[in-house]
Amino acid sequence: MIQLSGQNGGGQILRSSLTLSMITGQPFRLTKIRGARRKPGLARQHLTCVKAAAAISDAAVDGAEMGSTEIVFNPAKVTGGDYHFAIGTAGSTTLLAQTLLPALWQAEKPSTLTLEGGTHNPMAPPFDFLTRAFFPVLKKMGIEIETDLSRYGFVPAGGGKVIYRFLGGQKAKPIELLERGELLEQRIHCLCAHMEGPVAGKETSALRGELDWPENTVFIDHTKEADCQGNTLAAEVNFANITERVTSFGERGKTSKRVALDVAKMMNNYLSSEAVVGRNLADQLLLPMALAGEGKMLTSAPSNHVKTNIEVIEKFLSVKFEIEAQQRGCHFISVAS
Ligand code: ATP
Repeated sequence: MIQLSGQNGGGQILRSSLTLSMITGQPFRLTKIRGARRKPGLARQHLTCVKAAAAISDAAVDGAEMGSTEIVFNPAKVTGGDYHFAIGTAGSTTLLAQTLLPALWQAEKPSTLTLEGGTHNPMAPPFDFLTRAFFPVLKKMGIEIETDLSRYGFVPAGGGKVIYRFLGGQKAKPIELLERGELLEQRIHCLCAHMEGPVAGKETSALRGELDWPENTVFIDHTKEADCQGNTLAAEVNFANITERVTSFGERGKTSKRVALDVAKMMNNYLSSEAVVGRNLADQLLLPMALAGEGKMLTSAPSNHVKTNIEVIEKFLSVKFEIEAQQRGCHFISVAS
């Protein structure tokens, strides 16, 4: 039984442990769940991850309750198929997807995964980050996933719905992300749910001004397919080898200019660095790279998520990560078997 402590991290330690346990068949005990968070223990999103992982791998679980700070998870075989999980709050469906997908894409049968909850959450990958930044790297690694978002889910109402369809028997291939390649496209994307009026125009023109990008980079989506109001503003750069997408959320009391400045700062930080893989994408690619058995990426200073995720991965798989500081704050992360 693999023993883990969540003392120094958040939900990602739990999610990576679930994924790797399902894939390797090794049971684990995780104590001090989300120990570094203000309110430790399983919240709704994390509990749904545990229950959904148990359902797809026919696992025996102890401690799968709201607020629980310790679980024992003992999986049987992962079976591909038609699954439907609802978080019941605005908890992030993208984090739930990232937990289940690697186990299911390796299963024998194809899967259709219908997830309900939040699709655009602060502090989690927004759905468009998955489709535009994360999945394209997976595709280069030989993993193909089709998605269909039929309803948006914002905080606080949730109620979003996304379907993921993919074949089983997919095996991740090694990848090296050491150069961005040629710049192909720049995009400013504003999403407004139940928010007509001037917000989208104000946010996108402020961001365009800050980034000095041309008018044809702006895309605005208005939707009523959501249970509550929601607003995201994103900037995206699409290079031949990598896409970086940074997002900020509009909220009551925050000016359009402030939302735009937040996005511009994140994008300018990325563009002025030599990093290839952005800060968030880096921690999310560690697991697929480790499953491939080898991989390399050039990224910015490793976040706490990178460090804790590496610790978890090295407990389950016989791989070794190395992080080497490079010039100008960049870091070279490699994994080998
Ligand atoms: P906790 O509630 O314990 O903080 P959590 O389950 O909400 O945990 P974390 O453990 O903090 O989540 O993990 C959040 C994940 O979301 C990380 O992989 C991080 O890279 C990703 N993430 C956060 N914000 C963004 C963003 N704007 N774009 C892309 N990915 C993001």
